Amino acid sequence: MNTSDTQNANRAREYDAADPLARFRTYFHIPAGTIYLDGNSLGAMPLAVTGRLAKTANHEWAEGLIRSWNSASWIQLPLLVGDRIAPLIGVARGEVAVGDSTSVNLFKCLAAAVHLRPDRRVILLEQDNFPTDNYMAEGLAALVGNLEIRVFDSTKPIEPHLASGDVAVVMLSHVHYRTARVQDMSAVTTAIHAAGAPVIWDLSHSVGAVKVELAQSDADFAVGCTYKYLNGGPGAPAFVWVAPRLAADTKQPLSGWMGHKDPFAFTPLYEPGPAVKRFVCGTPQVLSLTALDECLKLWSEVDLDQLFEKSRRLTSFFVELVESECQGHGLVLQSPRNVAERGSHVSFGLEQIGYPVMRALIDRGVIGDFRTPNTIRFGFTPLYVGFSDVERAVQLLRQVLEERLWDLDAYKIRAAVT
Ligand SMILES: *Cc1c(COP(=O)(O)O)cnc(C)c1O
Repeated sequence: MNTSDTQNANRAREYDAADPLARFRTYFHIPAGTIYLDGNSLGAMPLAVTGRLAKTANHEWAEGLIRSWNSASWIQLPLLVGDRIAPLIGVARGEVAVGDSTSVNLFKCLAAAVHLRPDRRVILLEQDNFPTDNYMAEGLAALVGNLEIRVFDSTKPIEPHLASGDVAVVMLSHVHYRTARVQDMSAVTTAIHAAGAPVIWDLSHSVGAVKVELAQSDADFAVGCTYKYLNGGPGAPAFVWVAPRLAADTKQPLSGWMGHKDPFAFTPLYEPGPAVKRFVCGTPQVLSLTALDECLKLWSEVDLDQLFEKSRRLTSFFVELVESECQGHGLVLQSPRNVAERGSHVSFGLEQIGYPVMRALIDRGVIGDFRTPNTIRFGFTPLYVGFSDVERAVQLLRQVLEERLWDLDAYKIRAAVT
């Protein structure tokens, strides 16, 4: 340890001692020796979930059997779990449904949005959005036939791309998965509305990490993952929200029986349920929804403003330390430098050696991830990451770079999931 290491470690300890959210770490299982900086991809496991899953399996499923659809409220889970998410995205209870994946919910929203503007045929997308978002739009366009996909650079103003007057819907990430750049939801929504189109916000990297105010921004549709900052578990079902002013006019094509207004009437023809219920498709994923329900309980104790503030301070501390301690190794900040424009993860570009560096770090207990072609990405979940984790992670990153610990053949072979 040199003097600056000691100073950084002291600062980190001070920040941790003053952290009003520090106690939340005890709600999670963090493996020994691990600094977990990938909660933006898969959140850590809340300890309470194992007991709840055991209860659901042994009591509700094994003993209750089919009666549990009523007695354990399984049938209500999509909307009950949605009620726990509503305050995190700035909407009212009863407006959010949970089920299926983010990809599938994007498809429902895209189709519903296009249906609202039958006179227009253009789907406007950001060119480097998370791939599934744009793939789903491609799939819809191929199915519907006469839709046109246009892409634009979302780091630049959107207005010129709306001026043609033929845009039926715009789909955007609120926080970008690679750079963590945050869109001004309210201003962008206003611009899109001025051009007569609805907007779909993907909140996958926002919810539980940055302030989201869908209602106040007058947004139209939103979807998002629950296995990232919400810690709902691998493959946890996604959420979908539609503005109440639009809900009654929306039609989504995955018109499964659970979105019907009365599934157990078994009528021959589909009649959509009220509001967001019509975005539910098939039978709810009870085990995953139960796990998610348990994971979301702790959010009622979280002061969200404290959480957002801690997120900004963690990412700022990380950027500062990486830039001061790892100079000369080719790391280039890919996230906005201005903290007000940044979500809760930080990406650095690192040519050629990004992947093996991340593998070497993971072997030393610092878990982040890699996004092709050259991004190493670190997520800072305020509920369980502390400032000393940040300080220690940067020391290990420096060591990996200085001592070329990444230079092993085994680290250069890409795994299926990076
Ligand atoms: C993580 C993420 C997804 C994942 O979609 P799945 O259907 O859950 O695989 C989609 N979009 C964005 C923007 C994401 O960050």
